[in-house]
Amino acid sequence: MTNGTNELDIVELLNSPFGGHGLTLLHMAAEAGHKEAISVLLEFGADPSIKDGQGQLAYITAVNKDTRNEFRRFMAKHPEKFDYQKAQRALAAEKRLTVQALASGQSPPIFSRCFQCALDITGKIPFEYAEYKFCSTKCLKQHRTEKSLKKS
Ligand SMILES: [Zn+2]
Repeated sequence: MTNGTNELDIVELLNSPFGGHGLTLLHMAAEAGHKEAISVLLEFGADPSIKDGQGQLAYITAVNKDTRNEFRRFMAKHPEKFDYQKAQRALAAEKRLTVQALASGQSPPIFSRCFQCALDITGKIPFEYAEYKFCSTKCLKQHRTEKSLKKS
């Protein structure tokens, strides 16, 4: 695979929930206890921090301990991909400050904006690429496209 855009399409597909329950492929593999599928999905960029329609991580929905260990192995190899705990702590802090501002009659502060379209993404877990944050994979993709156009 040489084209960066194609690569991102696959990541987007991997991370798009489908069906009525908001499951990603990673959730399905976890529930089915399909360890090879889990490992392949994670290697190809499936995001383990995406929650299903009931707010559960794929790791949590894993059918048994053996399956959860597959996630742990990957986690040990790529700790940066499991950054969501850090992200969620940051979100909790933002929420506290937002509640405080509202309680004292101020408008809530804006903590982060999408690097591409400047949408307020305070309180959301952003899509990250390099040091930039985006509101959606669409903006991330646009940013990458523009960057590669500038290069050539
Ligand atoms: Zn955006």
